[in-house]
Amino acid sequence: LFSGPVTFLLSAPAIKFLPEPTVPEIAFAGRSNVGKSSLLNALTGRKAIARTSVTPGRTQELNYFNVGGAEDGSEEPEFRLVDMPGYGFAKAPPAIVKKWRFLVNDYLRGRQVLRRCLLLIDSRHGIKPVDLEIMEMMDIAGVSYRVVMTKADKVKASELAKTIEKVMAEARKHAGAYPEISVTSSEKGMGIEELRGFVLQSAEG
Ligand code: GDP
Repeated sequence: LFSGPVTFLLSAPAIKFLPEPTVPEIAFAGRSNVGKSSLLNALTGRKAIARTSVTPGRTQELNYFNVGGAEDGSEEPEFRLVDMPGYGFAKAPPAIVKKWRFLVNDYLRGRQVLRRCLLLIDSRHGIKPVDLEIMEMMDIAGVSYRVVMTKADKVKASELAKTIEKVMAEARKHAGAYPEISVTSSEKGMGIEELRGFVLQSAEG
């Protein structure tokens, strides 16, 4: 696990509400229902940190978690995890989609302390057009990101291997994407330890 406590900091509906950019940030992005909350919970070892702190209506905000430091704020955290708003849900009103695009673009382009993004992709679905949109946003913003396959336990090994191949081929086309990807299952604990190492290394490096 990460050394030090993991605590919910704040939810920001716009860039002006973000904390002072004093420590590195690692952000998590993905379609709604991709398994982002489950992965954050698995990584931090907190059963429901992402869920309990995120009340309905806050799903369109940037949710911040401190890792390390003092829980009472007397000491700076080592780094922060940022849960980005999910996208691609069916029947999203155009106004919501527009708001998402502005918030995410502002964050990706303007956040100096953003070290790395993790882009979550459902192992059953692979990369969809909505995922390509955020990949392009990150490419243009100069943000480096790693694709993380979620829910790997849900598909057969042969099918998973094919999807991994396709996803890696797509990643190679993108300036910001790491050529390697991570394959995880929050349910089975697969790939979690390794991903935690990557997060730490990204925060430190
Ligand atoms: P979010 O909307 O991206 O935060 O997704 P959640 O973490 O809430 O997960 C969406 C659904 O997928 C829930 O029903 C989870 O229980 C399920 N889920 C998430 N991760 C896994 C996984 O690794 N394996 C399996 N089988 N189900 C998962």
